[in-house]
Amino acid sequence: MSITIIKNADLYAPESLGLNNLLICHDKITSISKESIELPSSIEHEVIDLAGDKLVPGFIDAHAHITGGGGEAGFATQVPVLPISEFTSAGVTTVVGLLGTDDTTRSMENLISRVYGLREEGMSAYCWSGGYHYPPRSLMETAKQDMVFVEPVIGIGEFAISDHRSSQPSYEEVIRLASEAHVAGLMTGKAGIVHFHLGDGERKLELLERAIKETEIPARVFNATHVNRNKALFDHACELNKLGAYIDITAFPESFNKHGYHAYQAIELAVKRDLSLNQITISSDGGGCLPEFDACGKLEHMAFGKAQILPDTLASLIREGHSLSLALSFITSNVAELLKFSHKGRIEKNRDADLVVLDANYQVKHVMALGKWHKRDGEMSIKGTFA
Ligand code: ZN
Repeated sequence: MSITIIKNADLYAPESLGLNNLLICHDKITSISKESIELPSSIEHEVIDLAGDKLVPGFIDAHAHITGGGGEAGFATQVPVLPISEFTSAGVTTVVGLLGTDDTTRSMENLISRVYGLREEGMSAYCWSGGYHYPPRSLMETAKQDMVFVEPVIGIGEFAISDHRSSQPSYEEVIRLASEAHVAGLMTGKAGIVHFHLGDGERKLELLERAIKETEIPARVFNATHVNRNKALFDHACELNKLGAYIDITAFPESFNKHGYHAYQAIELAVKRDLSLNQITISSDGGGCLPEFDACGKLEHMAFGKAQILPDTLASLIREGHSLSLALSFITSNVAELLKFSHKGRIEKNRDADLVVLDANYQVKHVMALGKWHKRDGEMSIKGTFA
């Protein structure tokens, strides 16, 4: 069993708790104290003195194409598998993987095996069942069975609506899926939600708004992502948030999001509009392909989403004057609350030892996942099998 004492941490749980000392035993936080924590030298342990550096919860990314996404502009545009260090180097200690447009050559078998691979390498990983299309690309006969019988599967997604690449699902199909996710969630204690991919379509969130108003299914089951991809869609998402839904903002790269809002701008608006801020999350869309076109619409360059966009977004939110506690909540505690990860998302006694140390510029300096150091002083100590 590995034991670590972390001294003089400026602790953000994500609430600011001031200078504290922590005792980490194996993969759990066992003690948090203002008093010094000492162990006899006969017990093997490591002591690290943070000298007032900020200690924050490991980030939770609820939307990442861990098998590699893409494939939307030919087979050569399939994004390769992402190594664990792609996530952990950016402070992401928990990831939820998914399939997107390509749920034909990509499969749940492949997705779940990648979840297990990331777990073997030392981070926490889960996944959604399905992909863009109806019926969802499940491992068992239905996505509901995946949720009930396959431990890492926590819900259904990313299920596409208002997008030319969707299967144009009907209202009935949408509420049937939501009801299945909800019931499977009740049966298992899992998130039990549908993570909806939103495209640029004119119908925006109409299907979800109607479902929240007309059915008995709780609003939290209808979780829309990419809601900041265009301005009208974000306005609609604000209304959905007021109806009790969690909305997920995608941290698009600076150069990519020309018609919508950057994540920090969306948060700014959410604050101004008095939304339920604890029902807003931010994810990376890591591993998803990002085609860049020239002025004539010709494909110039193919890039893919990176987990590093999350700490970059955190730094942008701080630069815009938001508190670190608020900025952190969108990638830690709020995500844990939505996904029912009672062991994640906060620095608290008995929670998982998933920790990030930020330097003075809010860059990721050290990362601990499940009690083990993956990054120290900016250097990766665990890179992944082939990285
Ligand atoms: Zn998507």
